[in-house]
Amino acid sequence: MKLLRFKKNGRKKNGVVINGGVVEIEHSVLEASQSPPDDFKRKNFYSLDEIKIIPPVQPSKVVCVGLNYRDHAEELNMDMPEEPVLFLKPPTTIIGHNDSIVYPPYSQQVDYEAELAVVIGRDARFVNFEDSLDFVAGYTSLNDVTARDLQQKDGQWTRAKSFDTFCPLGPWIETDMDPSSQKISMKINDKIKQNSNTKNMIFPVEELISFISNIMTLKAGDVIATGTPPGVGPMHVGDVAEVNIEDIGILQNKIISLE
Ligand code: MG
Repeated sequence: MKLLRFKKNGRKKNGVVINGGVVEIEHSVLEASQSPPDDFKRKNFYSLDEIKIIPPVQPSKVVCVGLNYRDHAEELNMDMPEEPVLFLKPPTTIIGHNDSIVYPPYSQQVDYEAELAVVIGRDARFVNFEDSLDFVAGYTSLNDVTARDLQQKDGQWTRAKSFDTFCPLGPWIETDMDPSSQKISMKINDKIKQNSNTKNMIFPVEELISFISNIMTLKAGDVIATGTPPGVGPMHVGDVAEVNIEDIGILQNKIISLE
């Protein structure tokens, strides 16, 4: 089931993707992820080109994982990390499908990073590995946009990862999929730049939820960005970036300059 948030005539609504269109539902996306579809009160039907898709959740935080793909570690000639390396992106970075990434004038190298995002469905604290997937609402696609030159200059990653629009998320939440075996790719202007599979993750989703929830409470709606495969590289103004994850679909965003 694919759950989304959208705008129609300026109003925010929730929906489920059915037969290439969207059925508006009364449940919020997070409520719907925890309910059987028979319970949904259905309202209007829209085709996808009649609506404006907005980010599927508004998290209190986006918790990101650094190096988490074996093939990426090999590409960088780095040792496998013993524990996940974490950093945060503020919620103000989030934009939705077809929104624009704004290239900041303070950077000369803004990179794409295709990532599988985990959306938390209910508050999670001190969760063990075995129970961790019970706390998941579903999965979506994320582009961990990074000002690479500023990341290297600062040492700390906050500035490089935190410009407004640096976290495209969406287009929707897929509630029924296996996160441990998904093809994941990034295209820039129709050229494939990253092409891997989530089975190459060093720390699987279960371990990330357990590890993070033993540090901080994961609130319902929070997002975990699970790291990027090999092939990261720069984007330029005018480029179109597409994250594609097998069971989710395409998250597309254009890069524009600051007006
Ligand atoms: Mg990343």
